[in-house]
Amino acid sequence: MDMEFFDIVFDVPAPQIFTYRVNSATKGEAGVGKRVLAPFGRQELIGYIIAGREQAPSGLDAGRVKSIRRVVDDAPIFDSQTIALAQWLSAFYFCNLGEALATMIPSGRRAVASRSFTINDDEISNIALELSDEQKYALEAIIAPQASLPRPPLSLNVTPPSLALPPMFYLYGITGSGKTEVFLRAAQTMLDAGKSVIYLVPEIALTHQTAEAIGKRFGAVATTLHSGMTPSARFTEWTRIIRGEVRIIVGPRSAVFAPARDLGLIIIDEEHDGSYKSGSAPRYHARQVAMRRCSAEGARLLMGSATPSLEAWKLMGDKVITRLDLTRRLSGGNLPEIRSVNLTHVDGCLTKELKEEIRKTARMGRQTILFLNRRGFAYFYHCPVCGYELTCKNCSVSLTWHRERNQALCHYCGHHETPPLACPECGSLTAGYAGFGTEMIEDEVRRAFPDLRIRRADTDSTRGKGSLQETLELFKAGCFDILLGTQMVAKGLNFPGVRLVGVVLADSGLHLPDFRAVERVFSLIVQVAGRSGRYFPDGKVIVQTYRPNDPSIVSACALDVAGFFKAELAQREILGFPPYTRLIRFTIRCKDEQRANAAIGRLASIIAPVLPSGADMLGPAECPISVIAQNHRRQILIRDKSMGMLHGATRAILAAYERGKDSRVYLEVDVDPVSLL
Ligand code: ADP
Ligand code: ZN
Ligand code: ZN
Repeated sequence: MDMEFFDIVFDVPAPQIFTYRVNSATKGEAGVGKRVLAPFGRQELIGYIIAGREQAPSGLDAGRVKSIRRVVDDAPIFDSQTIALAQWLSAFYFCNLGEALATMIPSGRRAVASRSFTINDDEISNIALELSDEQKYALEAIIAPQASLPRPPLSLNVTPPSLALPPMFYLYGITGSGKTEVFLRAAQTMLDAGKSVIYLVPEIALTHQTAEAIGKRFGAVATTLHSGMTPSARFTEWTRIIRGEVRIIVGPRSAVFAPARDLGLIIIDEEHDGSYKSGSAPRYHARQVAMRRCSAEGARLLMGSATPSLEAWKLMGDKVITRLDLTRRLSGGNLPEIRSVNLTHVDGCLTKELKEEIRKTARMGRQTILFLNRRGFAYFYHCPVCGYELTCKNCSVSLTWHRERNQALCHYCGHHETPPLACPECGSLTAGYAGFGTEMIEDEVRRAFPDLRIRRADTDSTRGKGSLQETLELFKAGCFDILLGTQMVAKGLNFPGVRLVGVVLADSGLHLPDFRAVERVFSLIVQVAGRSGRYFPDGKVIVQTYRPNDPSIVSACALDVAGFFKAELAQREILGFPPYTRLIRFTIRCKDEQRANAAIGRLASIIAPVLPSGADMLGPAECPISVIAQNHRRQILIRDKSMGMLHGATRAILAAYERGKDSRVYLEVDVDPVSLL
């Protein structure tokens, strides 16, 4: 008998599953895994069919059930596995099933076939490199028929029955140590066995490069899913994956949802990268989703980085993740010499040491990269007489001056204004911009080296499409001597002409009120250093800092990853922060400050009695950035050793909060928050 009734969820903030029926037009077309257009309140919305029934559920008057207007898809675009993953996502990250499905599935309708890149099979390169012993050992461990390791249950999982942890491996090694080659061989083995592979890369930086390498190696069986694609192009690739036409998928965090058939392996390159955590709801972490998928679908998880996250490092120490070391650089070149120099009492932003090295590098006919840690890099309008600071009228942050536009700009809400000539408070004409900015550094470098060719690459000067790519190509071709920019120029660190890397202000993130600030600064320096000197034996890195004795800077300059992690883990254990505990963050947002305060107070009074013993509550407090876009922000963190306990408590908290909540206040729940600003 045909299905008459269908359970449908929508991408709306309502947790319910709704039942609809088919009419003569949609009968036979509707089916589980398809999207439909259906009346919802006064509008028509796209919904997802998650189940079919022959009869209306008991208690529902079949005559009053609304009809589906139209069925969007000819063939199902998700299956029971995807629905199960969405159910898990919604339970783990506290979103609705419809929101979860909408996050996972690209929108788009019957798109024209368009491929993000096309590679003829005869272009496939397969230069058979002889693997090093370390690579061989790693590869064999990864592809070995399953060893019967005792595996603790996946406490990260919230849907019973608890799944066992999947086999997890970590390639730990600097750039050039041959991680990519091992990733590709492991992928090849899976493809040969008829399985699929998902290959995750950090946003922007690596997608293109890796996609190209994968395309060359695997040809038409590979595809990319990235944020630069139109929704319909992404959707086209999605359907090709469902049909099994492509079996290796490269992309940023959202590619973890790719409906790969018979998944064998998920690879997470640069596992420590912050872009694996979603910045909007549902605030999922691709690593967490990957763990869940691998365990549910019997796949293996393979990660890699020179600077693992502390979470991953601890799991390696606990032998939950198998660490595989790649200690040698296979691409030739040595590690650069790294030196920190003190910026204190330096006039301007370039130390004598850095200037000398830039000069020396230029005399050798080689190139320099000046690297800025983006965060905290700004000019602030400040009055030295009365202490006035120009801040955003919508947010509790200082405005950054962008000289080219002569505008003071808020990096959080986009507000901009023309900076005043004199201090608005005391009228002093000495008020002006102070701090470090790319433009200011550019000026200083130009003044110090009038004869050198300098180019700046930051969001302002690379606004036009493709111009960052162009800048990097010109730099590679030797068309200028000094490249100045933020993380986005990291790719240039692999160019053979580069000799010197200057980290202009290493500690610019250290003061941030976030327990991960130190870890990030450390990672950044090691990444910069580890990526340079890849092709040349005499690389130099100069790290400028106001705190040359800060342990994170000292160990970063010594490339002492293990030492830093040991000290940092000890610190986290004492303070009771992740990876020794798990956190859930509740953030309240409201235009009205009193309402925000009232709501966070009410939330605290709900949380206190339901907290499991052993768990604790941090806050309520103002968020470090207490206002964004005129919204007052307040937060509470709850913390426990086990995520299971926090999940249970949060379900109770949210249910109680919903009853009698202030509809003008927005509550955001962030499980395993990565940023606490
Ligand atoms: P990573 O991903 O760790 O940065 P890659 O896998 O990209 O390292 O390898 C760096 C370079 O070394 C590449 O040019 C690669 O072709 C080369 N390479 C990798 N493995 C070998 C090997 N076994 N023998 C020789 N060269 C290798
Ligand atoms: Zn003043
Ligand atoms: Zn603002």
